[in-house]
Parts: sequence; structure tokens; C-alpha cells
Amino acid sequence: AGLALAGREVVVIGAGIAGMAAAAALALKGARVRVLEQAPALEEAGAGLQIGPNGVAVLEALGLRDAGAARASAPEAVELRDRDGSLVARVPMGADVLARHGRPYWQLHRADLLALLEGAAKAAGVRIETGVRVARVVPGVATGGGSGARPKLWTEAGASLDADLIVAADGARSRTRTHVFGGGAPRYAGSVAWRALVPAERLARPHPEIARVVMGPGRHVVSYPLRGGSLVNLVAIEERERGAEDGWMRAGDPAELRAAFAGWAPDVTDLLGAVDSVFVWGLHDHEPLPTWARGGVVMIGDACHPMLPFLAQGAGMGLEDAWVLAHELDVAGDITSGLAAYVNRRRERAERVQRAAAANGRIYHLSTPGVRQAAHLGLGLLSRLAPGRLLGRFDWLYGEDVTAG
Ligand code: FAD
Repeated sequence: AGLALAGREVVVIGAGIAGMAAAAALALKGARVRVLEQAPALEEAGAGLQIGPNGVAVLEALGLRDAGAARASAPEAVELRDRDGSLVARVPMGADVLARHGRPYWQLHRADLLALLEGAAKAAGVRIETGVRVARVVPGVATGGGSGARPKLWTEAGASLDADLIVAADGARSRTRTHVFGGGAPRYAGSVAWRALVPAERLARPHPEIARVVMGPGRHVVSYPLRGGSLVNLVAIEERERGAEDGWMRAGDPAELRAAFAGWAPDVTDLLGAVDSVFVWGLHDHEPLPTWARGGVVMIGDACHPMLPFLAQGAGMGLEDAWVLAHELDVAGDITSGLAAYVNRRRERAERVQRAAAANGRIYHLSTPGVRQAAHLGLGLLSRLAPGRLLGRFDWLYGEDVTAG
């Protein structure tokens, strides 16, 4: 073991969840890792992230079990409600998830998760350089003797550097995907997402320790508490024919958000009434790509499999990618075969999660009245008669532990 990674020079592009986790995992296996991040500092517009037991497994393997538990909240249940507030289904989470998968389901502030990963990366010797934007990446070319020229990149400031391995964790609008792998632009998926954090003290109706999904035709609202209940994270999805042309993410108007959900249940009205600033994302996905690795350049996270947020697994998949990449490189005899093993282990799973997320969005947004009621009735019956079966539908997702064995 360690043949392919020990002492190798690795450059990671992007200090998001995937990039930071990969940097930590690769450095723990002995690689010398630099992270280049275009943002001037590692901070971000506030948003919550749900991390299923499959993602928690990776955080534990990176040594973040206790630090993560200290910052995360774990919902007792997921409640699905109709827009009038009536309960459609309740899926027990807390103890049930622990019993089923041996790990919790975490809800974290994204900034807290990034800070945890940054700490792990730095402790493992990773160098993080902010304010550096990568302009161009060129894969290495295999030469006669089997050992190829190294992959290379240029920064926007004109510096160039090469490495044994370049990991592109540059997100859903990855330039590396376009330049090295010929992937086109992501496509607008027909919905926008509003995201806001609401201080709990502004709520007249306190938010319980659950994740709540309130569904109506063509739209839904997800909310859950963060940071010991002091904040409530809000994601509101609205189908819209247009919505992406004016930018990837922009400041939104809270009044417009309230108007889109006017007349909904009191819990929703109370929560939206407390929003004073909100961001809007156009939701995008991308056709699966034929490969994620070429000439010592490899993609992870949203760069290679951007997905709709309806399963709350984009960051979770980035964490899994990061661990598998480091592990497969570590046990491989050389970088090329390590990368091939990584792609082989990850592609099918990531594509399955992409498809399942899109399907979940369709269930949440059903609008034909008869179909909608039948689906809700079915979900409700299942949750009352066999609550374990609702959670069990996601065993393939949450039950995966990429760090095992
Ligand atoms: P990013 O976080 O996009 O990071 C990419 C980084 O690369 C950025 O820091 C960027 O500045 C940097 N970068 C880009 N280009 C360059 C360049 N040329 N040079 C240098 N740096 C560069 N996922 C979950 O798991 N759970 C959830 O509950 C969840 N909820 C979501 C809700 C919404 C509304 C949305 C839109 C997404 C949600 N996701 C969720 C998905 C999750 O946010 C993403 O999948 C995840 O953050 C992607 O991480 P990443 O590291 O791959 O990319």
C-alpha cells in the first residue's frame, strides 16, 4: 500500500466540501497537497446541509466524529405535510437511523462543516491558497515508456504549475469539466431554490427537532433547525420555466418568496414571514459524462455529477468521492490504475443518486389532484403501517459505507 500516493504532489482545485475532504483524505495517505480556491476567503453565504449516515461515515474516517457531533443536529423524524399543514407521512429518523445504519443523520451549517474539514486538512499538512483562480488545466500525455508527462495548470494571474495529480473539485460550473472532459454547460432543470437562515427567536411557532417537507403543486418547502436550534434552515423550491438566465445565484426578494407560498399552512407562513434576506439558485444538472479521469486529471463532487437537491446528497456524494479517490490511489500501484478504480467504483452510484433525486422532486411536486391524493394516501399508509419500510427504501443510499473494508 502507499505506492501511488506517498510523497506525490497533488493540486486540488476548489475548497468546497468535496475538495477539502479530498485534500484531507489524500494528505492522510501521505500525499503533499495544495488547494487552490478562487474565493478570497473560505466563507460562504449561509446555508444548511443534511449529511446522511453514508456521508457521516466519511467524516468519521477523517477523524471528525466528535467535532461533527458537537456541531450537528440530528432530526427525530422527517415529516411530509400537505400545503394546508395536514400530515402526509412521518418517517422516524433519530434512533431508527442509528439502529439501522450505526450512524446518525446530521444537519450542519455549511460553514461549520467546511471549518471542520479545513481543520482536518491543515492538521494533515495541506496548504490552502485562497484568491487563486485556475484558468486552464492540461492533462498529462502518456509517453512511450509508460510514465507520462505530468498534468499542468495555469492560474488567471499567469502562474503555471504541474503535479503528479490534479483533482478538479471546482463545482457544478466546473471549467475543468468543459476544458478537459468536453462536458457542456449544465442544463437548467426547471426549478429555482430559495435558501435562507432564520434566527429561531423570530418565530412565533418554534420549529420542532425534525426535518419538515411541506408539499404543494409545483413547489415545496424544506426546513430544519441548525446549531442547537438557534437557527432554522429554509429551502423553498419553485418550478419556473425561466429562472437561470439572470445568474447562477443572486439575492432574492423575501416578499416574492412569501407570495409564492401565500395561503400555505401557518408553520410555513410564520417561517417565511421571518425571512429578511434570501438567495435564489437556478437548479441545474448535467448529462452523465463518459469518464471523469484523463492524463492525471480527475473530477470529484459537483464538477462531475451535479444533481438536484431533492435527496440532499450532493455534498454527501462529494464526501464519498473524496474518500474513495484517496483509498483507490493508495492501494493502486500507479496513479492511472488508481484513478480508473475510483471512476469504476463511483460512476454508477452517483448516477443512481442523480436519478433518484430527480424522481423525488417529481413526487414532491405532484399537481394532478387525483394522483396527488393517491400518492399522499399511499405514503401515509406506509408510514403508519410500516414506518421502517419508508426508511428502508433508502438503505441502498444511507447504508453504504465507502470507508469499510
Ligand atoms: P462547490 O461547493 O461548488 O465548491 C467548488 C469550489 O471550487 C468553490 O469554492 C469555488 O469557488 C471553487 N472554484 C470553482 N472554479 C474555480 C477555479 N477555476 N479556480 C479555483 N477555484 C475554483 N447537499 C447535501 O449533501 N445535503 C443537502 O442538504 C443539500 N442541500 C442543498 C440545497 C440546495 C438548494 C442546493 C442548490 C444544493 C444542496 N446540496 C446539498 C448540494 C451541495 O450543496 C453540493 O452538492 C456541494 O456543496 C458540492 O460541493 P463541491 O465541493 O463539489 O462544489
